[in-house]
Amino acid sequence: MRISRAARASAIVLGLGLIIASPITTVSAKLATDSSSPAALTRSVAPSGTVTDLLPDLRMAPLYGIGLVKAPNGHIRLRFGTIGWNVGAGPLEADGVKVDPTDRYMVVRQRVFESDGSSRTRRTAAVMVYDVGQHHNHYHVVQFMSVQLYTAGQPGGDVYGLRKIGYCLVDARKMSHPPAAVPPSPVYLSCGDLQSTSVTMGLDVGWGDDYPPMWEHQWIDVTGIPKGKYRICATVDPLGQFLESNETNNQRWTDVRIDTSTMTVTILDTSAEACGPNVPPAPPAVTSMSH
Ligand SMILES: [Zn+2]
Repeated sequence: MRISRAARASAIVLGLGLIIASPITTVSAKLATDSSSPAALTRSVAPSGTVTDLLPDLRMAPLYGIGLVKAPNGHIRLRFGTIGWNVGAGPLEADGVKVDPTDRYMVVRQRVFESDGSSRTRRTAAVMVYDVGQHHNHYHVVQFMSVQLYTAGQPGGDVYGLRKIGYCLVDARKMSHPPAAVPPSPVYLSCGDLQSTSVTMGLDVGWGDDYPPMWEHQWIDVTGIPKGKYRICATVDPLGQFLESNETNNQRWTDVRIDTSTMTVTILDTSAEACGPNVPPAPPAVTSMSH
């Protein structure tokens, strides 16, 4: 059955009673367990002769809510909120399928939408894993984002922490100035549940996922680090597992001054640019592809 994107999105929104414009409903969207698949959506057809890929393009929003928090065990955590935007011409869609019913993993194919309204899928090295815990109990794309803390400008210098964060990809937040192709309502809202044998998740054009600073894994242990200037490097899709129209704009650096004795973090500067030295090199790109 072919249904329009708009009709389908409205149905989901009505069904779940969600309004996705506010931070509060961000959480609701993540907890939604609608199991229907956005994969059967139709996109507007460009009647020109050539068919082109409408690829996603992932970018890091500025980190937000950066601060130091003392953990129950006395350790000091640098916490941060992260949003990965899709600023491309088409959705980032990850279709997970469970191969072995006895484990918690799914293999992931990326659905690439075309300018003539069709779509194809390509194999990826990404996996989804079923995560249990605060705000979760659903599937995550493993290592969808990485956040690293290190001393900037010193090749081989000290690295103080690396977080590899699994993400449930949902259209949780719309960009304030989205690209023209943005759907008016969120399309991707589900990350499956324990019974799921397949999961379709994604980020549509102009939408982003949002992981607030107090959520699990949104921190790096900075106990005992010397007072000084550090760089936080955040990278969306650090392993290059998803095909994008631009593979070189996935990083953002944020320079901060950290003083654990006064529990203060001062943001000095930030930019959506490559982070520079000390960032681990990207692994080889995944090239296997099929229709
Ligand atoms: Zn989650």
